Amino acid sequence: MFSKILIANRGEIALRVLRACRELGIKTVAVHSTADEDAMHVRLADEAVCIGPPAARESYLNVAAILSAATITGAEAIHPGYGFLSENADFAETVEAHGLAFIGPTAEHIRMMGDKITAKTTMEMLGVPLVPGSDGELKSLDEARTVAEQVGYPVLIKATAGGGGRGMKVARDASEIEEAWSVARTEARTAFGNDAVYLEKYLDKPRHIELQILGDNYGNVVHFGERDCSLQRRHQKLLEEAGSPAITAEQRDTIGKTVTDALSKMGYRNAGTLEFLYQDGQFCFIEMNTRLQVEHPVTEMVCDVDLVREQIRIAAGEKLGYTQSDVTFSGHAIECRINAEDPDTFAPCPGTVAVYHAPGGLGVRIDSALYTGYKVPPYYDSMIAKVIVHAPTRAEAIARMHRALDEFVVEGIKTVIPLHRRILADPEFQKGDYTIHWLEQFTARPH
Ligand code: ADP
Repeated sequence: MFSKILIANRGEIALRVLRACRELGIKTVAVHSTADEDAMHVRLADEAVCIGPPAARESYLNVAAILSAATITGAEAIHPGYGFLSENADFAETVEAHGLAFIGPTAEHIRMMGDKITAKTTMEMLGVPLVPGSDGELKSLDEARTVAEQVGYPVLIKATAGGGGRGMKVARDASEIEEAWSVARTEARTAFGNDAVYLEKYLDKPRHIELQILGDNYGNVVHFGERDCSLQRRHQKLLEEAGSPAITAEQRDTIGKTVTDALSKMGYRNAGTLEFLYQDGQFCFIEMNTRLQVEHPVTEMVCDVDLVREQIRIAAGEKLGYTQSDVTFSGHAIECRINAEDPDTFAPCPGTVAVYHAPGGLGVRIDSALYTGYKVPPYYDSMIAKVIVHAPTRAEAIARMHRALDEFVVEGIKTVIPLHRRILADPEFQKGDYTIHWLEQFTARPH
């Protein structure tokens, strides 16, 4: 096992990793920008190194500074968290070239899944079902037209290098295909420096369902069931559940087996998530994330597993030590992402937290790096806390989340807590009756 790990991240996820290290008896090194000198992850770590100015490009994305910090502190491994360098294959490679362990998959697998066309063709070869669409990259507008006719409108033109919902355009019918093709390519070229695009049938009422997996270095792969992440605004998830109100245990077993077979053939190691659109009983793979996800706690609650601890154990060369039949599911978990944003306009709202009081009690977990007096800096992501609840049934989990949010005091900055309370009170949400379009429509309604 490692004796010291550098955590190349900030905020709640840096704390999340730090907590797992503490329980494993591993020393931690925090890195931080000058804007984060007073951050909780810096205060709680065994050592802290300043790696640059506020702009992420010069600090949390500064590979040379992070590697120097690891070298001078004698860290043996780096945990990248999510965002920042977590899905940067060159970073993973550089870390390993310096003789450190990268707590994540191989650079090769990160690169493969970072290119969505390669990801789709790889998964298809391994027997994972896809959204119907083009066979790889579209070579011309004519080809786009032909494939669109074959799969039927509406269609979506997507950038192979895409992320965060950028480089994605819908064509409702043949009259819109030329515009979608050129806009998607221009956006992809500007945002990602790569204008390769592909085409998918646009699904009109899917749910976003993803599967959590873990693999070790010895070909063992298990899944930890699904998360329903359909509640999104501008492709940003806001509330997640495990399990999905729309999936049966039998469906979970079937798609789980398909996925674990595929990843074990690939030799995939460490944590990963396969994202699917689910509609009319069909799972369609859209992309794979080769890192820990923001919403991983809902899985931890229903499976009683510490995914970060597992990531560290795997990176240290340990075997999983259990098989699929050892993974069991109990109760229901919900996560609300608390963003420092106006709950109606979604404008970011950084500033000083005048009063902070976190909820508690049975089945309530708070992952946050906030404290009274903390100044939320304007430079980074607006997510300041995750409230996670676990209860025997979905209805009890909803009641528990209501209760937890009632207790939650964050004064001095605006947060999306009022929006979460409205969602939880909505009859359609309570029935579990929603698709990926539901939240956008819900937030547009007068209230
Ligand atoms: P990104 O990497 O930009 O997040 P994804 O491929 O994961 O791109 O897609 C982001 C979101 O866009 C999905 O969660 C879903 O809401 C929507 N989406 C993607 N593909 C389709 C599709 N074929 N039909 C309908 N919606 C889609």
